[in-house]
Amino acid sequence: MLLSPAGSMDALAAAISAGADEVYLGGARFNARANAKNFTRDQLIEAGKKCREAGVRLLITLNTLVADRELPDVLEEVGFLESDVRPDAYIIQDLGLASRIRKTFPDAVLHASTQLRQHASAAAGILQSLGFSRVVLAREMPIGEIRSYVRNSPIDTEVFVHGAFCVCESGGCLMSSVIGRRSGNRGECAQPCRLPYRGANPFPLSMKDNCLASRLEELTEAGVKAFKIEGRMKSADYVFRVTSVYRKLLDEKRMPTEKELDELERAFSRSGFTDGYFTGRTSPDMFGVRREEDKRLSRELRKTARGETGPRGRENSDARTEAASPMILPERTAHVIMSPKEQLGYVARPEGRPMKDLSLFSDANRIDVPLRFLPETDISGMEDRISILLPRVTFDSGFPELERRISEAKKAGIRRATVPNLSYLPLLDGFVIHGDYPLNVYSRETRDLLEKFSFSSLFLSPESDLLSFGMSSSAMEALGYGRIPLMQTENCIIRNIAGKCLHPEERNGKDANAPGMSRCACELIDRTGASFPVLRADGHRNLIYNSLPTYRLDRRKELKKAGIGLCTLLFTTETEREIRTVLDCFRTSEAHPPFPITRR
Ligand SMILES: [Zn+2]
Repeated sequence: MLLSPAGSMDALAAAISAGADEVYLGGARFNARANAKNFTRDQLIEAGKKCREAGVRLLITLNTLVADRELPDVLEEVGFLESDVRPDAYIIQDLGLASRIRKTFPDAVLHASTQLRQHASAAAGILQSLGFSRVVLAREMPIGEIRSYVRNSPIDTEVFVHGAFCVCESGGCLMSSVIGRRSGNRGECAQPCRLPYRGANPFPLSMKDNCLASRLEELTEAGVKAFKIEGRMKSADYVFRVTSVYRKLLDEKRMPTEKELDELERAFSRSGFTDGYFTGRTSPDMFGVRREEDKRLSRELRKTARGETGPRGRENSDARTEAASPMILPERTAHVIMSPKEQLGYVARPEGRPMKDLSLFSDANRIDVPLRFLPETDISGMEDRISILLPRVTFDSGFPELERRISEAKKAGIRRATVPNLSYLPLLDGFVIHGDYPLNVYSRETRDLLEKFSFSSLFLSPESDLLSFGMSSSAMEALGYGRIPLMQTENCIIRNIAGKCLHPEERNGKDANAPGMSRCACELIDRTGASFPVLRADGHRNLIYNSLPTYRLDRRKELKKAGIGLCTLLFTTETEREIRTVLDCFRTSEAHPPFPITRR
């Protein structure tokens, strides 16, 4: 199935006439393109009619995080859509919203947005149990991982084949939200990744557009159900041209001609295209900006007349993948470390570099140690409070190694795990689990839903409004101190900027994942002079952190009133002395540490 974007009535008509099987579009609110023109209610009714007449399926995007106070409005919107527009499915990011729609409108069909961070098939069964019938895979997956996901998924899969890429892992970007107060998760991304930074490579985060026109056969063979074109902000002309090319390629089951590739590039590109995620060969070649030359090509193309619409031929091979059985999760009891009524406790999280000696955190309620740092950490006597911090992203192929490391941690006496991705739940039998911030707990609704998975604590999204939470049965955790992680990249930004990734003395052929390989770092300096540290995550993945640490420890009353029981003190680039200073601030409730901080 070919799925095209529609940011306007014109684009909708273009998508239909170019032969899309499905179109996706958003209403005026609650969709990830708040800046697109979007559709009024009258237009939505009209769009529903048009799609039905043309036999094209209509998908509605409700793919943002939704606050509790907004839920009634979203449900009212869905009520309107169900009665007057009758879309075929909704594309959803927020788990709490999915749960409420399912309860209120049992017949509504739900697709899991790419923002739900689907990198590994272990989560597909969980999505199915939550009521999703299709999942949009993370954009940064190589074909081998896509194959594996599709093979193991009990629900249909959708893959982005053309259009803009995010440099951050799908669904994990806080950069626009934190530095520009425009949340990507709320549909307001200001695209700071497209801006220049100082240094030899002025656009280190701006990715070329995705183009998998030459890869459709492999994706079809893999069993991918829907091929998605990005671009709800793009023109009707763009939608028509790109949809037409992909329609022909799918119908005629062939590779694109030079002319077709050229047409795609003229329609819109940023210094050409990339298929680097698909091939798994991430490199500096994946980056590019929209040059004058690219703009000129597009202008020239627009002057030429639109081509004729090709034959529809929409009887696509509907080859369903063999359905696997739904996920059965190990049963567990939540062990709440402390109730919210007690004094505020803290979670120490040294994630920037391995710390051999953890004794300075002797009064912490929990210490999150990145799993890859464990071999270099002395955990004796602290086993009960140490929680292994799992990677934000692991593809299917990484699961055997991950499982091995988790079982080593278990042998060493560790019984807690901090979980940023639902796909790990089946691996954690016998562990007390703590929900990490990338789970995007933005509302009570989502918190209540995740509690059913027996999380002992849940880390509230750094974007959420603390005041809207209340007491709950699991402990609530929020950032108390630390540089907010703005994005995790699949590309090694360190290597792209510095030309190499490892420090010279560490290079000598050592495995990038080996302990001790985590210290290489660089910084991004923006136009205002703010410096954003880039640190190594797992393998060659990087984490980009905010330029200043957020400080909330002087807002204890507010935190406690919001039901927060645990403050996370997140350490990245701090010296040991600075870490001690922050701990003293926490213990003595001092105003703030004697170095620059931000309140956001
Ligand atoms: Zn690297």
